Formats: sequence, structure tokens, C-alpha cells
Amino acid sequence: MSAPDPTVPVIARNLAAVNAQVAEATKEAGRAAGSVGLVAVTKTHPASVIRHAIAAGHRVFGENRVQEALDKWPPLKEEFPDVSVHLIGPLQRNKVRPAVALFDAIETVDRPRLARALADEMERSGRRPDCFIQINTGEEAQKAGVFPAEADAFIAACRDDHGLATRGLMCIPPIDEEPSLHFALLGEIARRNGLGELSMGMSADFETAIRFGATLVRVGTAIFGPRPPRDSRP
Ligand SMILES: *Cc1c(COP(=O)(O)O)cnc(C)c1O
Repeated sequence: MSAPDPTVPVIARNLAAVNAQVAEATKEAGRAAGSVGLVAVTKTHPASVIRHAIAAGHRVFGENRVQEALDKWPPLKEEFPDVSVHLIGPLQRNKVRPAVALFDAIETVDRPRLARALADEMERSGRRPDCFIQINTGEEAQKAGVFPAEADAFIAACRDDHGLATRGLMCIPPIDEEPSLHFALLGEIARRNGLGELSMGMSADFETAIRFGATLVRVGTAIFGPRPPRDSRP
């Protein structure tokens, strides 16, 4: 690799590198160019940092806390109307109204009462963010997401009973396990339910995720650098 150009801001450089790795992994997997989207995860980072990514041309972002996103994104979205923001962290029912108003995709739909509340709010507001169902592929007690055995019934309920715009599935594999098995399982659940989108893969494993069919990868650290320890958990 050639030496980095010092006149290009580091975030723009990192973004270009990650985009190139995504393109290469997509090609190596024999998949169509452009079939994998990059969600740049900006949790803990201030608007001043996010602006570097927007200036570099990036438009799809992810946040894991509703309140933090509400504090940062409304002015940015007003200034850059083509930006979209995905919720990739837990959603409490008392935050459903502002979440539906702000987010363009909600990747963490994971329980019937939340699905119902989202459906009601979408009906009320007329806004219909894309929905992803979070699957707890590792069946971890402390982690959000529907267990694999309950996935088919929950997906059917979201689509048929609640009428959510259910685009696909999302997972966060256990940190201490080989992620491929989890990516393969997510792909299998999506296939048998006819869902096209798979949100999986982070800085450490997005190339593996692409090999297993990811259509969205969620990358933070590789673009924006390390986060403060308090917030480094996924
Ligand atoms: C923080 C986070 C990411 C990005 O993680 P990195 O390792 O920084 O790339 C992806 N997905 C979710 C759900 C996250 O919370």
C-alpha cells in the first residue's frame, strides 16, 4: 500500500479503505458489485466527526442509543436530507414515537409488544421506516433479539399481523465465538422466510459476513477509530 495522503482527512481515508475492502470481499464472494451497503456507526462520536464522513460522501449511518441519536441527528438530517440513519440498538416502547420520526430503518425489532407499538405509531404518523428483526443467534441471556426457534413465528407476526415493512434480519454474534456459524444461521432464517436483507458484520468480521451474504455491514471503529471504553460495548 502507498503512504497515506496527509491532505486527506483520516476519516475520509478510513472510509475509502473500508469501501474498498467491502468491494473486494463482495467480488471475492462472487456477488454483484454494490450489493453490500455500509452503515457507518457513529455512536459516541459528535456531529463534528460525523460531518467528516458526510463531507466524504457517505450517507448511511447507525446509532445504538435513541436519545443520543435524537440529540445529534435532527439538524444534520435537515442540512443533508439524503442522509439515512439506522437504529442498531435497543428500542424501548416509550421512545417509539421519536424513533419512528427520526430513523429511516429500525434494525432491532425483537418482541411482540414493540412490533405492535411500532405498527401503531407508523399508522398514526404515516412514516414507515424499514424494519429488521434482530435474532439472538447465540441465545445469549443478556442480549436482545428473538431466539432462532421463535424467529419464523415472529417474522410472520411482524409482516402479516402488524404490517411492518420487514426487510430482513440483523444479528450481533457472541464476541467470543466464530461468527460464521451465526452469519450462516441468520442467512438460513432469512432464506426460509423470503427476506432479502441481512445486517451482519462489524469492523472485525465484515468481510466474513459478506462471504455469508450480508447486504448491510455495520462498521464503526474501522472508520472513526476507537470509542471511549464506557461505550465500546456493542
Ligand atoms: C457499535 C456497533 C457496531 C460497530 O462496531 P465496530 O466494532 O466499532 O465496527 C455494529 N453493530 C452494532 C449493533 C453496534 O452496536
